[in-house]
Amino acid sequence: MTTSVFEQVNRWVEEAFSVVGLDDDLYEVLTTTYREISVQVPVPREDGGYLVVRGYRVQHNGARGPYKGGIRYHPDADLDEVRALASLMTWKTALLDIPFGGAKGGVQVDPAELTGAELEALTRRFTLAISHLLGPYRDIPAPDVNTNAQVMAWMMDAYSSRAGYSPAIVTGKPLDLGGAPGREAATGRGVVYVLEAACARWDLDLSAMTVAIQGFGNVGSWVATELDRLGIQVVAVSDAFGGIHRAGGLDVPALRQQLADGRPLTDAPEVDRITNEELLELDVDVLVPAALGDVIRGDNADGIQARIVAEGANHPTTPEGDKVLADKGVRILPDVLANGGGVTGSYFEWTQNIQQFRWKEERFNEELRAKMVEAFEAVADYAEAHQVGMRLAAFSLGLERVARAVRLRGYV
Ligand code: NAD
Repeated sequence: MTTSVFEQVNRWVEEAFSVVGLDDDLYEVLTTTYREISVQVPVPREDGGYLVVRGYRVQHNGARGPYKGGIRYHPDADLDEVRALASLMTWKTALLDIPFGGAKGGVQVDPAELTGAELEALTRRFTLAISHLLGPYRDIPAPDVNTNAQVMAWMMDAYSSRAGYSPAIVTGKPLDLGGAPGREAATGRGVVYVLEAACARWDLDLSAMTVAIQGFGNVGSWVATELDRLGIQVVAVSDAFGGIHRAGGLDVPALRQQLADGRPLTDAPEVDRITNEELLELDVDVLVPAALGDVIRGDNADGIQARIVAEGANHPTTPEGDKVLADKGVRILPDVLANGGGVTGSYFEWTQNIQQFRWKEERFNEELRAKMVEAFEAVADYAEAHQVGMRLAAFSLGLERVARAVRLRGYV
């Protein structure tokens, strides 16, 4: 029997409970979700008729602040996956020590099959259907897979049509609507800031390393850009259509331009075409999964040659895959730490919206680096002190903080 994604995330939580040592009532509260809404979203098709899809918003735990988490548009975004991703947000926000709880949203749809007008109509209908659960101090969505700043602008507009001008209702907005300079790049940059801190602590020379990145969307393309800026060789990248490899290093700015011009990654000159599976098994120093979940599993983890796996994606590694990597001595920078730059950047954007004030990007990046490095060092210290791996340390530290807040608020 296959384990559901939410069950897999709860396996990490369960292990963290045994490290931290907490009561059963807390276990019950923290391995289930607080509130779940499932809504019908009818989308008028431009050529007539309706496409009726399902949307979800799951609020996992709000002890430390308003619920926070992205909205994903994907055919596989079912309730179980959204629950799992909401739970990850609870541990991530606590680990990064930002005043949010954990939530996630998903609409089960393939946006590639929709026109721009249909995508806008879907976004507005979905937002209004869940709007009674949202609010700048209640629940604040953000972009995730297949959603972007434009989708956030439509969400903000739909919510504001009822509640009045409310930029702080979503983060990851366009700069013209209260978006924060630096937010779009924040998740990818955060991955690199953590990688730099890890190499410094573990005495590894990052400048001499080679990197393969699965996924070249928001997270993957910014990881590549930041590494390229530092002069570190990105030798392979991929997207849903396949990957490319060049042993001497890829021209990252040219790849970004290529995609912006509507040309596929495989149009790049002097590259070898590879599959997503082959990318994972390349002989590189660092592997950054930055696409979907469940890509490193018990059945393929043994083929991974990288020394470090820095998880840009959420839940890219199953518990079975994690065990194989640990046994091989691969160092893991777990999702709740490595991709925490996104929600940290969202926190900066939210605070600026509330104050009606804008930071310069330099300040945004400095504060982001400080938060990421602080979280990395805390996890690495915890791992050493408790003799556990980085993932278990990250979950345990997050769990300790959430449990304290739950108790202090008298929730259980
Ligand atoms: P995105 O939609 O911008 O990009 C996703 C990328 O993955 C695209 O290049 C797409 O082609 C590729 N992809 C899709 N299906 C694939 C497949 N089957 N095989 C290989 N590649 C595939 O999404 P994103 O915002 O970059 O998110 C990527 C991951 O990072 C997700 O797991 C998301 O939850 C996580 N994440 C995102 C943020 C954020 O701020 N956007 C923050 C934290 C974590």
